[in-house]
Amino acid sequence: MLRSWSFQLFRIYGIQIELHFTFLILLAWVAWDGWIEAGILGGAWSLTLIILLFICVVFHELGHCLVARHYRIKIHRILLLPIGGMAQFGEIPRNPIKELLITVAGPAVNFGFFGLVYACMGWPEKEFLLSFSYDLNGLFVVLLFFNLTMGIFNLFPVFPMDGGRILRAILALRFSYLTATKIALWIAKPLAVLGVILALTTLESILTAILFAFIFIGGELEYAMVRRRETLGGLTIADVTCRDFIVMDANITVQDAVSRFSIGYPRSIILLDDGMVAALLSPSRLKKIVKKAKAHDLLISKTDSKITALQADWPLEVFVDSIFRNIKCVYPVYQHNTIIGIVEPSNIQGIAEWKNLSRRFI
Ligand SMILES: [Zn+2]
Repeated sequence: MLRSWSFQLFRIYGIQIELHFTFLILLAWVAWDGWIEAGILGGAWSLTLIILLFICVVFHELGHCLVARHYRIKIHRILLLPIGGMAQFGEIPRNPIKELLITVAGPAVNFGFFGLVYACMGWPEKEFLLSFSYDLNGLFVVLLFFNLTMGIFNLFPVFPMDGGRILRAILALRFSYLTATKIALWIAKPLAVLGVILALTTLESILTAILFAFIFIGGELEYAMVRRRETLGGLTIADVTCRDFIVMDANITVQDAVSRFSIGYPRSIILLDDGMVAALLSPSRLKKIVKKAKAHDLLISKTDSKITALQADWPLEVFVDSIFRNIKCVYPVYQHNTIIGIVEPSNIQGIAEWKNLSRRFI
């Protein structure tokens, strides 16, 4: 959802920076607000300020990413939203010290920027703090306080915010990873609710309220992810592979596919082109295609699968997070160069639930 409404901006240190389209609404709103307050100059000043602030946000996220890269963790992108930035990694390290260092690097960048601005201009005069000025000095004052506030705010122990991650990493030195996450979330949830209430009442900031709501939901999702990983530890890709499928040639027409599908009702159709998986379809996806396509249309022309091949003996733990994250992707499973089935998030979820149930009898 977040990705589908975002577009690529540029790469920095080889890391893709993406902008969510709602960010453009924020830019327009800020420029409008500045224009109302102080005319054209106010609009241009506000726009410059918001861009500078988001450059600080990008560097905060880059702080996380560059330390993560040092530990050979894959970085997917940095996504910019009106509520802030989000660095998306291929995996979250289980090593508490690594997680601690990756996390601390973000706020450290803000404190670094704060120190830099402070070294350039010193502590602002009292009149600058009392009256806002639409000039270079005003920009520096806001940058100074923004970086100080962002650095401190991120250290609040509200998981999965930086402070919450630091807390989880420290707890993970003593407890299991799942227990550490559970305790961090237990502390974070009431704080996030309090954050929403304070944002709406005292601060009157809808964006801050949305940020805390996101943090609340983000914490729950990450806990579910950690729990799933714990439950599925030790399994291989083959253990969660669904083997109920039929193979068709990639050049099959929609009409022929429908008649084949009505025999035996398999869970999936795999379209093969020269022995390689060209597409994968579920019954519900095929039904949607049938409603729009003509009988003699090639089925392959109506699909747009992104395919990631998996090997049967690979450990599930390494791939499970990305399988759940990239739900538009299709995962055929190979064993000795032969396709043996498909991995789908619903399969993995089902197996995790059964594994949890089976624990009741241990
Ligand atoms: Zn951060």
